[in-house]
Formats: sequence, structure tokens, C-alpha cells
Amino acid sequence: MIEPSDAAARRAVAPVVCYPIADLPQPDLALYQHAAEGAALVAEAVAAPRDAACIEVPAGSFLRITCINGPQVGDLNLFNANDLTERFYSGKTRALHGTHVTTGDRLWSSFPQLRPMATIVADTLDWYGIDEFGGSVHDVIGTRCDPYTGRLLQGSDYHHCCHSNLMRALADHLDMSLAGAEPHVHDVLNVFMCTGFTRDTGQYFMKASPVRPDDYIEFFAEIDLLAVLSACPGGDCGSEHTSDTAPCHPLKMNVRTPVAGALAQWSPPKRNAYDGSHGR
Ligand SMILES: [Zn+2]
Repeated sequence: MIEPSDAAARRAVAPVVCYPIADLPQPDLALYQHAAEGAALVAEAVAAPRDAACIEVPAGSFLRITCINGPQVGDLNLFNANDLTERFYSGKTRALHGTHVTTGDRLWSSFPQLRPMATIVADTLDWYGIDEFGGSVHDVIGTRCDPYTGRLLQGSDYHHCCHSNLMRALADHLDMSLAGAEPHVHDVLNVFMCTGFTRDTGQYFMKASPVRPDDYIEFFAEIDLLAVLSACPGGDCGSEHTSDTAPCHPLKMNVRTPVAGALAQWSPPKRNAYDGSHGR
């Protein structure tokens, strides 16, 4: 390896934030949080350990994911309930809000709609911040554990990775085949997962989640959503995934709808206003 003579000067160039978000339309968090106070429970679903569950979240209602028995990480897929091609875009959410998300951040949808699908209105782990290893909670950097990577790295087949769990739940919910469901499964929001990148090799790391029973994260649905949540076979992701080794626990999802009139000042986000001509 040969370093150029001006290597230090090149490294010393100051970074520039790729996507400054000061000009993004800001969610009216006070309005959402006020509406959440009087909201009534309308639906509930539980993702069993090493399995997944679906729940429909109408626009203008709240989706809460709660840790109920013990520390457990969840892998969340979100779809426009009326158009499966509009789905959560983990990469763009990361580019806009950073590697981990919390209260006030938004979950963005894929092209060409690129609009906020959901806004995080509450997060009982918001106190965690960034730890001494560079780790933080609720990441949009991991993809989801899957049997293909498991086969590459371990040479064996494991059938209850989050990818497969999400596939089965989506297929059952929409009455489609597993093969039909697979292309819809996408990179997730890693709910409650504590992750970062190692400082020396830049590798994706995980560590035992700080989540405890009764901790929750809550989202406001900006559009009609279909949410699919897998209770990861990694459990708290403190040791390993893609196996039955880790203790695993269920995760609860519930949907609450605000009282009439509570959202009178809110309207759903329109699809992205780019004209779509792409230079032609
Ligand atoms: Zn997983």
C-alpha cells in the first residue's frame, strides 16, 4: 500500500451532510401526540417467537410495537395497504435521518412515491442515544436475517429467519404463494435492535438490546399501512441469529384510532411531486 504525500491533507477534508433535512416539511408532533392520548384500541396482533404477524393500520391511526415477555428484536416491513409496490425504503430513510431512528423521524416510502409512510411519535428507548461502541437502537442499516446469507456463511439451511417469517406472514395474509410473497419482502426497520459499525473494520455489529418488557415504539400512519413484524430468531441479538440458540420472545402490535376531529388539521402526504419525465 502506497500513501500519497498529501494523504493527511486529503483525509482532513471536512465532511458535508449529504441530505440536510432542515427544509423537509416537519411533522406536527404535538398534534399527533395529543391525538394519541385519546386514541382507542381497534386491533391487536402478536408476532410469536421466530415467527411474524400482519396488521392493517388505517391512515391517521397509531401502530404501537411493545416488548411483552423479555428482550426481543423485531424486523418490520411496511407497505401501502392499497399498493404493495409502495413500501418502506430503508436506504433513503437512513440517508435522510441517519443510521438509527427515534421520535420525530419518519419512515419513507420507495420511488416514485417517496413520501413519509409513518412518523415515530413515541419511543421509550429514546434515552439510549449512542453508546461508547457507537451503537444505537432501531436501525435502518441491517437488512433482515435470511436463509441465503445463512447458507453462505454457515453452510446449513435455517427456516425461521426474519426474511422467511415475513414471507410466510405476508403470503398468509394476502392469500398468495410463498414465491409470490418473496419479492415484496424488503429491508426492514430493526425495531429495538442495538447496532452500529465497528470502528476498526467498519463491520455491522449487534449487541444485546436494552429493550425490556413494556418498552414500546409508536408510529403514526401517514397512509393506509400493512405492517408485517417478525420476532427475530436472534432474540435480543446479543449472541447470534439464524439459529434456534437465542432465547426468543413475542412482540405485540396494536392499532389505536384517535377520536373524531382530533386530526382535523392533518392531511395525508401526497406522492412525490417530481414530474417523472427523467430527461425524456
Ligand atoms: Zn432477524
